Amino acid sequence: MTTRPTTTRAVIVGAGGLGGPIALALGAAGIELTIIDDDRVELSNLHRQIQFTDADLGTPKATRLAEMIVAHGGAARGIVARWTASRADELGGDADLIVDGSDDPETKFAISDWAVANGRCYVIAAALRYGGNVFAGVPGVGCYRCLFEAPVDAPSCADAGVLGPIVGAIGGVAAALALGLVSGDRTYAGALLAFDDLRKVAEPRVVRFAARPDCPACMRAPISPLATAPVRVAEHS
Ligand SMILES: [Zn+2]
Repeated sequence: MTTRPTTTRAVIVGAGGLGGPIALALGAAGIELTIIDDDRVELSNLHRQIQFTDADLGTPKATRLAEMIVAHGGAARGIVARWTASRADELGGDADLIVDGSDDPETKFAISDWAVANGRCYVIAAALRYGGNVFAGVPGVGCYRCLFEAPVDAPSCADAGVLGPIVGAIGGVAAALALGLVSGDRTYAGALLAFDDLRKVAEPRVVRFAARPDCPACMRAPISPLATAPVRVAEHS
């Protein structure tokens, strides 16, 4: 067993509506951040990406958000790039944790697959309209691909819209779960917290499931999650 470094390192993918609150919270908690996003700030973002202002229009989101973390006394760097399977080794590096706040299903699966293959903790967050969901992954439990199998052609925030405060709420949950995972809290490891409509109810449905025996990601995982029975259970709905 190697000695754990004193500083926890996290990669945050997406510097927008979800990535903003996630990065600000984790940066303030003393986690060293690498923020990855290939977008620039646009006027249409400002209602839900409240970390940015008019003065940031046209600047790369990743580097601008990293500057804010540093201004708050944290440690962060921004990389203007898109997380893809082919760049995952380079971008993931030796991070302890990957947190997804992107608006792209393909990216979420690429993050999950890389984290599973490399034995890292990961959190995947999504928000749409009035709700969202957050998945907390650790080595040895069923993964994001076990649950959702493959990207589907779902409407994105950009197409279907999301109420501004919803991304703050979902981002806050993602950051809280991420902090739990890196401090060893496994309460929600392998669970999806689903918030159907935050205007009506704030309590999530907690969805737990066993690894899918034919999941290509889990079949290659260094710590196998396939020892448990393939039964999916929703704790309450
Ligand atoms: Zn899996």
